[in-house]
Amino acid sequence: MTSLDLRSFNFLAALQCAVMGAVLLGIRHNFPSNIRGLRYWGLAPLLGLGATGFYALLGYAPALLVGLGGNGLLMACSVALLAGTREFLGQPLRWWPWVSLVLVCLVGLFVFFVIWPDYRPRMLIFGLGMAAICGAHTHVLARHGHGFAARLMLVAMAWQTLVLLARALSTYWVDAPDTQRFDAGSVIHMVFVATFSFTILTVLVSAQLMASERVRLEFEHLASHDELTGALNRRAILRLAEQAHVCWLNMGHAYALLLLDLDHFKHINDNHGHQAGDLTLVRVASTLEQGLRPLDRVGRYGGEEFVVLLTTSDLASAHRMAERLRVRVESLSADTNAPACTVSIGVALVQAGDASCDAVVGRADRALYQAKAAGRNQVSLG
Ligand code: GH3
Ligand code: MG
Ligand code: MG
Repeated sequence: MTSLDLRSFNFLAALQCAVMGAVLLGIRHNFPSNIRGLRYWGLAPLLGLGATGFYALLGYAPALLVGLGGNGLLMACSVALLAGTREFLGQPLRWWPWVSLVLVCLVGLFVFFVIWPDYRPRMLIFGLGMAAICGAHTHVLARHGHGFAARLMLVAMAWQTLVLLARALSTYWVDAPDTQRFDAGSVIHMVFVATFSFTILTVLVSAQLMASERVRLEFEHLASHDELTGALNRRAILRLAEQAHVCWLNMGHAYALLLLDLDHFKHINDNHGHQAGDLTLVRVASTLEQGLRPLDRVGRYGGEEFVVLLTTSDLASAHRMAERLRVRVESLSADTNAPACTVSIGVALVQAGDASCDAVVGRADRALYQAKAAGRNQVSLG
C-alpha cells in the first residue's frame, strides 16, 4: 500500500471527481432553476483538480508556491462544496468569513514556510482551517438536510472533519519540523488523500441524488396539488378518501366527507373580475385548511367546489366542523375586505353498506344540493 505512487493516486482521484463535477455543471440547466447549489458543487472538484496540479509540481516548482497554491485551492474546493450545500438547502453562504479564513490560513502557511520554516504549525493551520469548513458543512447538513442522500453527505463530511482534526493534532507527535510527507509514502498522508477523494466523490454523488430527489418531490407535489390554491387536487383527495374507506372496512374507523360549493361565485367573477375570483378561491382554501385538525384534509374538487375529509366517528361532530368552516368562510370578507363570499356545505358520514367512498361523496353531494335549495350559506346532512 505504502509503495503506491501518491501523485498518480491523487491525480486519478481528482480527475475522476473533476469529471463528475463537469457533468454536474453540464446538466445543471436540466434541473428546474429553483434547485440551487449545483454550480458550486460542480465547481468544487475542478478546484480540487487544480490543487492536485499544484501538488504535482512538488520538486519542480518552489515548495512555497506548491504549498500555498495547492492548499489554497483545496480550501477553496471545500468552501465551494459548503456553498453548494448551503444554497441547495436555502441557506446561502456568507462568503466573507470563509474567504477571510482561507486568507488567514494562507498567511499563516506563508509565515511557517518562509519566516520560521516548520511543517507542524503549517499542518495545524491547514488542518484546522479545513476542519472548520468541513465541520460547518456537517453542521448545516445536520440542521437542514433531510433524506438518505443528505445523511450520506453528512457522514462523509463528519468523517472528513475527524480525519482532518486527527491529522492536524497528531502532527506534533509523529512529525518533525522538516517533515515532508507528500513523497515519503506516508500512511497518514495516504489515509488523508484517500479520505478526501472519497469525501468529494460521496458529496458529488449525494448532491446528484439530492437534486434528483427534489425534482421527484416537486413532480409529486405538482401531480397531487391544485396549482391555484395549493390544496390537494381532486385525484389526491379522492385517493385519501378511498384509503379512509379501506380503513373503515378493515378497522371500523369512520370518516366523513364535506362537499363545499361557494355561493353565487359567478357574481364575484362578474362583479369583481376573474382575478378577484381566483384570490377568493385561494383565501377560502387556506381558511379551510387553517380551520381543520391535523389529520383532516382539504382538496379542490372542481372549479369553486372543495372536499374536506374528516377523520371523525359521528355525524354530529362532522356537522359541527362543517358549521365552523361555514362561519370561517363567511367572516373572510369582513376580515380582509375581500368580496363577500359564503359557502354551502353537504355533510355525509360513511355507513354500513357503502361499497366505496363514491357512495359517501354521492350523499354529501345530495346534501349540498339541499343546502343550496334551502337558501345557501348553510350546512345540510346527508
Ligand atoms: P351557486 O351558488 O349555485 O353555486 O352559484 P355559482 O355562481 O357559484 O355557480 P356556477 O356553477 O353557476 O358558477 C361557478 C363559477 O365558478 C363559474 C366559473 O366561471 C367559476 N370558476 C370556476 N373555476 C374558477 C377559477 O379557477 N377561477 C375563477 N375566478 N372562477 C372560477
Ligand atoms: Mg359549483
Ligand atoms: Mg357555486
